[in-house]
Amino acid sequence: MGTFYDRHTDVYDRALGGNIHVGYWDDAADDSSMRAATDRLTDLVTERLEPAEGQHLLDVGCGHGSTAARIIARHAVRITGVSVSDYQIGVAAGRPQSPDLPGRAAFQLADAMELPFADESFDGAYAIESLMHMKDQDAAIGHLARVLRPGGRLVIAEHRLEGELGAADAARMTEAYAFFKFSLSTDGYREQLQEAGLKVVDHTDITENVRPSYDSMIRCWREAARELDGREAREMETAAELGAWFFGEVPQLRYGLLTAVRL
Ligand code: SAH
Repeated sequence: MGTFYDRHTDVYDRALGGNIHVGYWDDAADDSSMRAATDRLTDLVTERLEPAEGQHLLDVGCGHGSTAARIIARHAVRITGVSVSDYQIGVAAGRPQSPDLPGRAAFQLADAMELPFADESFDGAYAIESLMHMKDQDAAIGHLARVLRPGGRLVIAEHRLEGELGAADAARMTEAYAFFKFSLSTDGYREQLQEAGLKVVDHTDITENVRPSYDSMIRCWREAARELDGREAREMETAAELGAWFFGEVPQLRYGLLTAVRL
């Protein structure tokens, strides 16, 4: 499982300016760099967490730690990041953390579908483009609800599918799911969140704001395909083809920021 992310982490990092999630642009006139835009997505997620001094936050699917690094540079919080990629945890843990920063972060290899943390041990949690990669999203949401204290906030940022796909698109999406090892929510996890005791308080669709990220991702997959050989090159080429299709030709593909509160 981890190895898929190991292979793709550097490609995304290059495509997305040092972060491995999409960027946010205000409008067509916004010419922010990829780095500035992907950092802005982190800031939008952070705002929704309403972090207060001394709080302990969980970064679910923490990638290579760039998100947590930005948050602890601005907020006096403690972050625990979990990922299923050894490689990512190594990069995340190897980032220098100056003692002058207001916050601290620690990273560990752990599966969000079996979180190894005590009940009600976090004040907040965020999952940026990670829940969609989990085989058992119900289990992950159940664990998130369990480890959050009552009143704790959960922010989810990722793609979802809104509305029915035609038969041909549905078949191709199944192929994309198998290849990228993801599966998109169709209702923003509303039912699962509610069942787990989390109340959705906000859902903001930012599909058009994240769109400028896609060309760069497709370009970097193609570049990686040229730099690699054999099976790995073919894997990157397939990623580019599937990406160009679903980012460019599937209007049902949306991107949302969802905020829920543990009851
Ligand atoms: N949130 C990060 C990384 C997004 S990439 C960022 O915004 O930069 C997707 C992440 O989800 C990877 O770190 C991957 O390891 C993680 N992930 C996928 N399945 C997981 C699981 N079952 N448990 C924990 N992390 C998981």
